[in-house]
Amino acid sequence: METRDLLYEGKAKKVFATDDPQLVLVSYKDDATAFNGEKKGTILGKGAINNRVTNHLMRLLEKQGVPTHYVRELSPTDTLVRRVTIVPLEVIVRNVAAGSLSKRLGLAEGTPMKKTVLEFCYKDDALGDPMVNEYHIAAMEWATPAELETICRYSLTVNRVLGEYLQDLNIQLIDFKLEFGKTDAGELVLADEISPDTCRFWDTVTHEKLDKDRFRRDMGGVEDAYQEIMKRLLGE
Ligand code: UDP
Repeated sequence: METRDLLYEGKAKKVFATDDPQLVLVSYKDDATAFNGEKKGTILGKGAINNRVTNHLMRLLEKQGVPTHYVRELSPTDTLVRRVTIVPLEVIVRNVAAGSLSKRLGLAEGTPMKKTVLEFCYKDDALGDPMVNEYHIAAMEWATPAELETICRYSLTVNRVLGEYLQDLNIQLIDFKLEFGKTDAGELVLADEISPDTCRFWDTVTHEKLDKDRFRRDMGGVEDAYQEIMKRLLGE
């Protein structure tokens, strides 16, 4: 697969064109940012861990009937994915209160939600990714009502499949963020990444945080936490 131009460089990944117009190469970086880019740093080995963890989980989800953009892992940090137009929404799925939800509603971190909560944020760094609801999404035509229904259904399936899978590895899935894309043919697929950068993972027994909150909150042990997730999921 011959790599062509850099199409896009984000905070954690670069995207390159390939000689197939329907495929792009995603290359994961060790760079870490938080609070809308205000906090910057490096997490050694993060690129490879997030790439491999994402691919492992995308393959699991495909088997369970959730279509994804995943095609093939090319190297520890690089993956071939289907080229899609990203729906400009972040879908947040929450099982337990943490982070911005705890702040907004005054809930202690760790309070279980009686029902899974879905939230949507409009992807716009300049606006700080504001939270929006289904009326904004329809009015702004970010997704049709039918597409949004599919997005919600897939998001809840991802939550069930990952929640059950991680529970067996002694990892509690607190919350996570998903992004979806549309292929040229109009198919909605799960895109972006599913990693310790985009999920809250707590050890089921010790409640230790095994995710990016260790970086956001200067807790130390960031690399070890990412390594531990890699070990539990991929056995190495
Ligand atoms: N999240 C993310 N990217 C974002 C915002 C949130 O991946 O731009 C993830 C975050 O890692 C967490 C979940 O979505 O697993 C919920 O995040 P929250 O709204 O609590 O915001 P945070 O406290 O992370 O700023």
